[in-house]
Amino acid sequence: MNDQYQYDLFVIGAGSGGVRAARMAAAQGIRVAVAEQDRAGGTCVNLGCVPKKLYVHAAEFGSSFAYASGFGFHSRRAPFDWSILQQNKDNVTQQANRGLEGMLTKAGAALIKGRAILTGAHEVTVDGRSYSARRILIATGSRPFIPELPGKEHMLVSDDIFNLKALPTRALIIGGGYIATEFAGIFHGLGVAVTQVYQGELFLRGFDNEIRLYVAEHMRKKGIDLRFNSNPVKIEKTEAGYLQVILPDKRILETDMVLAATGRRPNTADIGLEQVGVTLDEKGAIIVNEGFQTSIPSIYALGDVIDRMQLTPVALAEAMNLVDRLYRGKDNSLSYDLIPTAVFSTPNIGTVGLTEEQATGLYASIDVYSTEFRSLKQSLSGTTERYLMKLIVDTATDRVVGAHMAGEGAGEIIQGIAVALKAGATKAIFDQTVGIHPTSAEEFVTMRSLTRSHSR
Ligand code: NDP
Repeated sequence: MNDQYQYDLFVIGAGSGGVRAARMAAAQGIRVAVAEQDRAGGTCVNLGCVPKKLYVHAAEFGSSFAYASGFGFHSRRAPFDWSILQQNKDNVTQQANRGLEGMLTKAGAALIKGRAILTGAHEVTVDGRSYSARRILIATGSRPFIPELPGKEHMLVSDDIFNLKALPTRALIIGGGYIATEFAGIFHGLGVAVTQVYQGELFLRGFDNEIRLYVAEHMRKKGIDLRFNSNPVKIEKTEAGYLQVILPDKRILETDMVLAATGRRPNTADIGLEQVGVTLDEKGAIIVNEGFQTSIPSIYALGDVIDRMQLTPVALAEAMNLVDRLYRGKDNSLSYDLIPTAVFSTPNIGTVGLTEEQATGLYASIDVYSTEFRSLKQSLSGTTERYLMKLIVDTATDRVVGAHMAGEGAGEIIQGIAVALKAGATKAIFDQTVGIHPTSAEEFVTMRSLTRSHSR
């Protein structure tokens, strides 16, 4: 390495991607520094995946009280204390912050606290102090996007929920993606009256249609007020302190809290990118090549800031791929195929591969196996919830090209199915696999009756 620089690699941002790249590079004996203006761990650890999943578990307890009576528990719903959940959640995330900082230092990376700005192709300035580096990695993540509308100052974003002092009685959520749908389930499970307003015909755009319809139906059955083909045009605060949300048809919805869950934008503003000549796309994301290199050869970027897939495991995979390329002599390109994902909605969604709609457009002929059923647990709980599982098969090769599920534990189950799809499993292989009884997951290996076929 060239000693004309203080560091071989200077990482801006200690989120999922930044920490992983820094740790892996430092483990190769590379001189690494990481700058972070806030807490280590970024969005996922502090304002995303980790605290959100704790909320999801809390919300599940809400319904467990209702379901327990079928199993003989004469319990009433116990009072819920939001402040205890917040405090315990803070303890977990703070422990994670310390753990990550410890890991970085143990790996030999220097952690520099402060806001970093690019001041050259090989120079980063943190709070007025400049550092030189042979290579710089931008891993600054993303932030919530707030739509323009009168009264937008009354809207909260997901970041705010993690510091919310009191749970509202009523909540209105704008958006139909991951965050909106997950928070609709969380708030509802915690006893809040929830309305979710989505601008399109059916929320969860991009997911399998049958799954989207199923989740909408079951959220409605649970009592979540879903309003599609609608989008607030104005928000007003009343003298009494609550909010009035005005819809395009002039209808007014009253609520105590409005959450805008309307997408996230890359954090590329005011960090010196334009000044140094790093090219951005029209959405403000950093443009990189297959090796995560920007228009300036010494500067790299990965994670939400390049806006390929805003998922923590994707940022981690990108970080490992970059370190492999730069410091381990491997130049394999990262495959974005068959990335499984879960929406921790109520019911959960787990998905990998093509939707029925995508597969129909891509293959000459596909077979669809779909099953809806009630598990043993559901049979005694009195819940309206069921499971929906489906496999999409390319008829010509018998390869399973998509697997989708809605129901409890969908993310857990689909993770394993993703391994099978990555390995190229055919429907015959699924059929030859012996099930584990009685589980919900066994349905994936016992779907023998064809539900429908599509041919072009
Ligand atoms: P998404 O992109 O998932 O969803 C954004 C939603 O907001 C869409 O329904 C979109 O509608 C709608 N929308 C966009 N602009 C407007 C507007 N101006 N007015 C009204 N509605 C609007 O983003 P999220 O914010 O939910 O989450 C950000 C990303 O974070 C996700 O894409 C995901 O990658 C990641 N994430 C992952 C999670 C997980 O893995 N479980 C959990 C949470 C987040 P339309 O469909 O019409 O575009």
